[in-house]
Amino acid sequence: MDIQIPFDNSYARLPADFFARQAPAPVSAPALILVNRPLASELGIVLGTDAELAQVFGGNALPQGAEPIAQVYAGHQFGGFSPQLGDGRAVLLGEVVGRESQRRDLQLKGSGQTPFSRGGDGRAWLGPVLREYVVSEAMHAMGIPTTRALAAVTTGDMVYRQEGALPGAVLTRVAASHLRVGTFQYFAAHGNVDALRRLYDYARERHYPDVETPGAFLRAVIARQATLVARWLGIGFIHGVMNTDNTSISGETIDYGPCAFVDAYDAHAVYSAIDRNGRYAYDNQANVIVWNMAQLATALVPLMPDQDAAIADFTEAVHAMPDLIEAEWLRVFGAKIGIAAPREADRALVVDLLALMQTDGADFTNTFRALARGDAAHEFSDPAAFTAWEARWNARLDGESDWRAHMDAANPAVIPRNHRVEQMIAAAVTGDYAPLHRLLGVLAQPFELLAEAAEFARVPAPQEVVRQTFCGT
Ligand code: AMP
Ligand code: MG
Repeated sequence: MDIQIPFDNSYARLPADFFARQAPAPVSAPALILVNRPLASELGIVLGTDAELAQVFGGNALPQGAEPIAQVYAGHQFGGFSPQLGDGRAVLLGEVVGRESQRRDLQLKGSGQTPFSRGGDGRAWLGPVLREYVVSEAMHAMGIPTTRALAAVTTGDMVYRQEGALPGAVLTRVAASHLRVGTFQYFAAHGNVDALRRLYDYARERHYPDVETPGAFLRAVIARQATLVARWLGIGFIHGVMNTDNTSISGETIDYGPCAFVDAYDAHAVYSAIDRNGRYAYDNQANVIVWNMAQLATALVPLMPDQDAAIADFTEAVHAMPDLIEAEWLRVFGAKIGIAAPREADRALVVDLLALMQTDGADFTNTFRALARGDAAHEFSDPAAFTAWEARWNARLDGESDWRAHMDAANPAVIPRNHRVEQMIAAAVTGDYAPLHRLLGVLAQPFELLAEAAEFARVPAPQEVVRQTFCGT
């Protein structure tokens, strides 16, 4: 094989109860759709021919040094605890330490059944694979911490879902790690304190080498997640399934399922068909992440010699999180309106703009982008109210320097709009990958409004509006 992946598999060296050894299940006719060459090079991976890449990233050939495992975890799904989840349709091939000496996981998703499949087929269809590829790479280009996409392969096999028979696919995902809040919950729920300590040591060393206690570890994860969620809000992102098993310890966005972006601004927007109570609505994400961190805190308590003191200390850390998110939120939205160091008094300016946008259903992305050009009034059906707001804003901008350039660096011109993603998937299912390549091309520079990007900045026509998204597992 020509492909060379410099594996160094630390997770596979952990005790046997952390995972199940599991090779990917072979597929009929793997064909390469996408490979992320810049990312491969960043990871020190030498790629081979397309045919060979299809074999490796389709799961038919194991590259040298891979030690495939399915990781075990637990998790709260929509608030209900499942003590036993795990990689049901994924295997971790191993880890590489890339150019920036950062250790990263290489995982195949859609690679067949594992001991944790719980009756599922272990497969993925092309739609969710391409959605995760496109959205995760777009998030990265927007500077949001996220897992990445290294390759996408069609399998030549059909996958059977509610919608019918669909083309199967495998995504190769790159992550700082696949450690989840649910990984800690698994060992805590099973009363396995030795393993919990081992996991804590591993996670601390890998992600937070400077922290020295579980309390400091908790605070470090909380800080990263507070930043992450504030940044999601800043681009109108709705994760859709913020279960604790889909909340990373590293602070990266992970597990893109029925995710979506708000078009016409609605703080309560919910797209996921299975989120019937709006638990994971746009504006509830800041609450849910606190709840998820409380679950992490609970899982860490058994590590502490004095559990009562630990509960008091961890509770304080969790209770401090809403203020952290609020502060991050103000920083993020302040930048979006050109204020480099927003003060508490500036919060009302942002809140009032969002209220106008909500009333008028203004497009989230385009309104912020248009502000810097003095061209946002047409986004509002009541331009007078907006103009009054604009006068307040202009007064506040006095003394800010370079605010237009700062706004253009904070407000993407193009995002993976839901209807564009759906159209791209519909075309790909018929074998037409041209829309996929165009979308990826445009999203690689989300802060530029290049000529070819103009149509991707357009809001959906009424018949194009996506109202619901599906897990698509
Ligand atoms: P999610 O919230 O979509 O990340 O998935 C929740 C759990 O369901 C995880 O443990 C997955 O591994 C598992 N799962 C999802 N889809 C499948 C599938 N097609 N086959 C087996 N397990 C699956
Ligand atoms: Mg998941």
